[in-house]
Amino acid sequence: MGITVVGSVAFDSIETPAGKRERCLGGAATHFALAASYFTEVSVIAVVGEDFGAEEEAVFTKRGIDTRGIERATGKSFFWAGSYLDNLNEAKTHQTDLNVFASFEPKIPAAYAGTEFLFLANIDPVLQRRVREAMPNAKLVAGDTMNYWINDHRAALLETIKGLDVLVINDTETKSIAGNSNLVQAAQAVIELGPKTLIVKHGEYGATAFFSQRSFADHESSHPFRAPAMPLPEVVDPTGAGDSFAGGFFGYVASQPEMTPAVFRKAMFYGSVMGSFCVERFGTERAQNLTREKIDERFEVFRKLTHL
Ligand code: AMP
Repeated sequence: MGITVVGSVAFDSIETPAGKRERCLGGAATHFALAASYFTEVSVIAVVGEDFGAEEEAVFTKRGIDTRGIERATGKSFFWAGSYLDNLNEAKTHQTDLNVFASFEPKIPAAYAGTEFLFLANIDPVLQRRVREAMPNAKLVAGDTMNYWINDHRAALLETIKGLDVLVINDTETKSIAGNSNLVQAAQAVIELGPKTLIVKHGEYGATAFFSQRSFADHESSHPFRAPAMPLPEVVDPTGAGDSFAGGFFGYVASQPEMTPAVFRKAMFYGSVMGSFCVERFGTERAQNLTREKIDERFEVFRKLTHL
């Protein structure tokens, strides 16, 4: 059945200590879909403008990603410009042009209706909820958000995260939603807002899963679980690492017959693997050219990195 993801498909201009790229293909849904495509079938719901051509479309279709839900609108695609010159863990946003995204009304192709795994990437929480409600067959719904929605659209965001099975956000966002600067207390407070499982991304330091009694059907209580990030000699471009983590995590979960604590823990490592590939090149360059063998090889590197 695979995964459906709704989110941004964008052009990004990026500057990092390793160099600069102008208008490379990006967007949260793009990074997520490419990473997840190595594990399961993926369908995308998004809107793009007239600047999204055959070359960009081919990035998706070459990976077998279903693009029937990518609507073509008159105007330009979402554009984001950012840099990471002071801190590789935190993007400095220089420009966000919503363009066709400003009037985005997600349209869900009938062929996507049976989707069992739904990922709501970082978009307006009202739209996230609308997509969720239109896909009643989804048995696992995960989502992301960002500070703009936490600070300026809190009520709508809280309504959306109440209905999530898995919330995947970074540490700053976790603390900001909870209004608490201690990560463990903040994570507990966020879980009490509704998501069954909370995955907190720590950039170059990995990610931690916090489970609740509602995380798994058999009520097995589970301790928090941390997966490290790969120590890399050079980080070329961190853009999309979080979405690639989410794609690897969710892709692996969706490829498994059961959702157990062991599957979620392994998925955390696949998330870290996909995040580590993403940052090795600009934009989606690395994620376009992987193989499942290379992914599993790196999974083994992670095993050696962490095994006593
Ligand atoms: P990440 O580095 O994983 O947090 O995600 C970066 C991607 O998110 C980039 O490719 C951007 O195009 C996209 N992005 C940046 N700002 C926004 C926004 N306000 N809404 C949706 N997507 C965004």
